[in-house]
Amino acid sequence: MSERILIIEDEENIARVLQLELEFEGYITGIAYSGTDGLITYREQEWDLVLLDLMLPGLPGLDVLRRIRADDRAVPVILLTAKNSVEDKVAGLDLGANDYVTKPFQMEELLARIRANLRMKKHEHNHEVEEVDDKFNHLYRDLTLHEQTREVKRKERKIDLTPREFDLLLHLMKHPNQVLSREQLLDSVWGYHYYGETNVVDVYIRYLRKKIDFNETHKYIQTVRGVGYVLKEQIDEVKN
Ligand code: CA
Repeated sequence: MSERILIIEDEENIARVLQLELEFEGYITGIAYSGTDGLITYREQEWDLVLLDLMLPGLPGLDVLRRIRADDRAVPVILLTAKNSVEDKVAGLDLGANDYVTKPFQMEELLARIRANLRMKKHEHNHEVEEVDDKFNHLYRDLTLHEQTREVKRKERKIDLTPREFDLLLHLMKHPNQVLSREQLLDSVWGYHYYGETNVVDVYIRYLRKKIDFNETHKYIQTVRGVGYVLKEQIDEVKN
């Protein structure tokens, strides 16, 4: 069955081009030209993914995102952001957007991200079903972490982690495919009252990578430049 993508974008030319391209790829699309209409359309129908512009008339994009997330934790949302709006990107990711592309974007890049996010949504759904039996067991692809036994494995390879590395990985695994800023990771893993440098996060990510991804073809811990980190299977590098 075709997947349904909602485009919330006030620039009609961009919205139309997106619609044409997506329908050519076999998706079913809907367009809303303002934040308010976007939210109404979102709630009226079932959507598999949302493309959300941030600068919108009516309700601003971030407010649309906040309300979508309040209704539905799972639907992938990809932000369409202007260049030089790092704050908006970070705010959007903090509010639970899954990904973003910067305008002007390459259609191929956007299509690759749409495919990746739709694929991960399906994958997570399958895992949710498997995980019902054991809520302390976290899975990501071939990576498993048991919260109580503190056992971490990649396939059959046992991985020894320090307590801090373990907590960091646990946090990443509880939010797969979600970009987490250094500040978020500091708050969640080091505690709210940690006043140290945020580069302690970079250091620990490096340790984790060595243990998790070293010598593996599929890397799971990704850097989102200028923003933070995400647990996500690496997809082919797309040129900007
Ligand atoms: Ca706009």
